[in-house]
Amino acid sequence: MKNLKISLALACAFLIAACGVVNKKNKGKGMNFFTIEQDKELGAQVAAQIDADTVQFPLLDTVQYADVYKYIYKVRDKILNSGEVDFKDDFDWRLRIIENDSTMNAFCTPGGYIYIYTGILKFLESEDEFAGVLGHEIGHADMRHSTRQISKMLGVQVLLSAVLGDQSSIGQVTSTLVGLKFSRKHETEADERSVKYLCPTDYNAGGGAGFFQKISELGGDTPPEFLSTHPNPDDRIENFQNLAITYGCVGERNYQTELEAMVAKLP
Ligand SMILES: [Zn+2]
Repeated sequence: MKNLKISLALACAFLIAACGVVNKKNKGKGMNFFTIEQDKELGAQVAAQIDADTVQFPLLDTVQYADVYKYIYKVRDKILNSGEVDFKDDFDWRLRIIENDSTMNAFCTPGGYIYIYTGILKFLESEDEFAGVLGHEIGHADMRHSTRQISKMLGVQVLLSAVLGDQSSIGQVTSTLVGLKFSRKHETEADERSVKYLCPTDYNAGGGAGFFQKISELGGDTPPEFLSTHPNPDDRIENFQNLAITYGCVGERNYQTELEAMVAKLP
């Protein structure tokens, strides 16, 4: 495990952002220049480019690994059906697994296309941990953090060109999304969302804490990229656990054997 390259950005990305109209569903967090439709269009463009790049993003086939996909969609649906996801019915929330055991990462495009590396799936120990991580990713998307971040980095014009299908602009958005680092504030918000989504389910709502616990145990092998994208794992563990108490979450299930059965089916 120690040689796992923790570029774990959980660099979820989403698009929306910077200025303009405040979307009523976006909890007034920042100003959004993009509409939901533009988010979805941009996400579809980016996802199509990622899907086509089989060298950088070797995706697990959805037919050959139907059981694995069925499992991760089941976990996703528990989160989406929590009643706490603002854009549940607006975004696609499509999941794809990238075959790369040395990358502990997951990211989202605008419009809810989520990519998860096999490296992170194999690092997790139980289903509640996976749900915690997936909830974190969905949280970034649901808060529409990425557009804000990406438009700051690339400029709104690049995003607009990408929406219109300009391949070079889509490429810029894609490469930025994959390594996107969120602010600590956005990371904290995504952690909070994760607990909030899991709270109405039978999962241990602080499942994300287990993941960060393991990460922190990697100690000196944890590279700086990880610290910069997901700072203070110890604080976050406490935060996950405290939030679960604050929200009055009572779920306790971790479904460890279920996660292990899924991992055993991975290549
Ligand atoms: Zn994150």
